[in-house]
Amino acid sequence: MNDLIYLDHNATTPVDPSVLEAMLPWFREHPGNASSTHAAGRAAAGAVHRAREQVALGLGSSRSEVVFTSGATESNNLVLRGVAGRVVVAATEHKAVLDTARDLGDERCTVVPVRPDGHVDFEALRAALPGSSLVSIMAANNETGVLQDLGSVVSLAEEFGCLVHTDATQALGKIPIDLRQLGVHFASFSAHKVYGPKGIGALYVRRGVSLRSSMTGGGHEGGVRSGTLNVPGIVGFGVAVEAVGDVGGQLAARRALTSRLLERLVRECAPVEVFSDHQSGLPNTLSIRFVGADGAATMANCPEVAMSVGSACTSAVPEPSHVLLAMGLSGEAAFETVRLSLGRGTTEAEVDSAAAAIASAVARVRTMTSRLPAEMAATGGTSQ
Ligand code: PMP
Repeated sequence: MNDLIYLDHNATTPVDPSVLEAMLPWFREHPGNASSTHAAGRAAAGAVHRAREQVALGLGSSRSEVVFTSGATESNNLVLRGVAGRVVVAATEHKAVLDTARDLGDERCTVVPVRPDGHVDFEALRAALPGSSLVSIMAANNETGVLQDLGSVVSLAEEFGCLVHTDATQALGKIPIDLRQLGVHFASFSAHKVYGPKGIGALYVRRGVSLRSSMTGGGHEGGVRSGTLNVPGIVGFGVAVEAVGDVGGQLAARRALTSRLLERLVRECAPVEVFSDHQSGLPNTLSIRFVGADGAATMANCPEVAMSVGSACTSAVPEPSHVLLAMGLSGEAAFETVRLSLGRGTTEAEVDSAAAAIASAVARVRTMTSRLPAEMAATGGTSQ
């Protein structure tokens, strides 16, 4: 495990030591339920209060606008299921938005296409908005790193009196975020993408906006999300958001490291196609096709590097990425595409070793594929 070069930070990140340190007392020493009124409960409530402040500060919101959830999947579900009427989503949304919208039924869901560069087709969006009550467009795509123009989405939605939700799970910690300035009504976040623990996240609900809760129970979190608060998780999330620091100031260095990896891959693995743009999108994300080399086979031949084909959340399903298909790629091209996502601890030495390992894996896969019967080679050898 120690020799593994981990380039799958969009799937999840390692817990930061400061986060773990802050969480441990809330497992070991403080048993309180944050709703209890005795001393142990008040201590837990105090810790939650501090963490809510840290998260709110990091998001550019106020404390009362932060609802703790189990993660972005739950946050997305709470919004899409909690708003009455039609919802509009983009074709490249994470499945936690796309499949939730589809689950509302055809009469309540419109999926708008994206352009070949992954940006939402605004003509189609404008056409879908009349009569809709919510539009949900992600801030940053988990597979390609494409950033959507949320300012324009908000302006357009305002024309039609439509609420705006953004799944900002991949944006937090990678690009600067200021929810107040952005003007969205709802936003989803997850701690494990920012070096926090898994199983905790948040939903931002702008002050004055109401959301019917699809979860009934003890009325926690302003009645939006019932359930005993996950105190250690919340404490860890708070510290993780605080540790994000000056994201804007780190952009150039992150982009440079990603460029270094890309340059080596282009040089050593041509022909390639690139579907990400780390200069204008997420600074850490590469979506790259090694033409003629099936992505799963490349991964299998490169066990020393952690990467992914499609998104990790759905990679148990042997289907081409819906994100790449929505951008107009063929199934074959999508199957040959891998995602590499760098983290804040990634070094130049790791990038260089990873590029060398990937290059030899791609060469091996291409040699094997060229020996396969023609009809299998045509599908990248993945059809069985
Ligand atoms: N949305 C996006 C854009 C994501 O990348 C992810 C995680 N892959 C999720 C939602 C789901 O987050 P969680 O694991 O916290 O449920």
